[in-house]
Amino acid sequence: MKNKFCYKNKHLIESKELTKKDIECFLNESEKYIKFNKKKLKKLNTLKGRTIFNLFFEDSTRTRTSFEVAAKRLGADLINVSVKDSSINKGETLLDTMTTINSMSPDVLIVRHPEEGISKKISKIVNACVINAGDGSYEHPTQALLDALTIKKRFGEFKKLKIAICGDILHSRVARSNIEMLSKLGSKINVVGPKSLIPNSIKKVNIFNDMKSGLKNCDIVMMLRIQKERIITKHVPNEKIYFEKYGLDYKKLSYAKKNAFVMHPGPMNREVEIESKLADDITRSLIQEQVTMGVAIRMACLEILINNRD
Ligand code: ASP
Repeated sequence: MKNKFCYKNKHLIESKELTKKDIECFLNESEKYIKFNKKKLKKLNTLKGRTIFNLFFEDSTRTRTSFEVAAKRLGADLINVSVKDSSINKGETLLDTMTTINSMSPDVLIVRHPEEGISKKISKIVNACVINAGDGSYEHPTQALLDALTIKKRFGEFKKLKIAICGDILHSRVARSNIEMLSKLGSKINVVGPKSLIPNSIKKVNIFNDMKSGLKNCDIVMMLRIQKERIITKHVPNEKIYFEKYGLDYKKLSYAKKNAFVMHPGPMNREVEIESKLADDITRSLIQEQVTMGVAIRMACLEILINNRD
């Protein structure tokens, strides 16, 4: 394949490394897949004969299955490595596992792992393209791309938008990747949450500790899951108090613009960070739309990276 895309890298590791043009490249290329995914028969030959590995060392439903659907719709062979049954349990190091898989000549390795920066390390020792599908609290670039695609489809632009990202910012790779990408695309970002869940290092955003001021004039309210698996000490008040102060319900949503939309990367803790009824209200919630866009953007990512590698 000829290198026809303006994104030239064969890996997708950090939103930080992407330019506005790169992000737009992924968004534009996914348009054809949004249309394609509405067809009855969903099978292409674009990546026929290509081998893709899903290597998930942390739980996942949406991301893992959406990469699998994306790869299969493009005609590739996808192998899900069950970490539970892998030699990691016999003491093999992660990098040894990656080198082993690399020797089978894969085209793409999709990696989710609790260690920050691990995808970058892997990308330096393998020939395959590497996609970071979430490394600890650090980054999750394809989530931010699918969120941007969802926003683009709904609003048509980024420049005039004010977006509130709310909740457990401290442990959220989704927040970090979205702040990077959405601010590069020109949106204004408010970050909203209790002091204990907002890192000091955060940049390019306005910070609020209450929903009323944080949601004012916002077009989108993006809620985040409390990352219970990463919270080691006492950052969070009990769930009932948290919901009262920071859980999104219709009343708090009314602090934002009149027709503001709600987003959430999933999985949701219903009645903790979001009211169940609101999450399911398709007149206000883009949550299902995000999942749909996830497949299209991941098809574009696989096509672009493999093309660049060739
Ligand atoms: N699914 C997203 C992630 O893997 C969000 C979450 O788990 O809360 O980061």
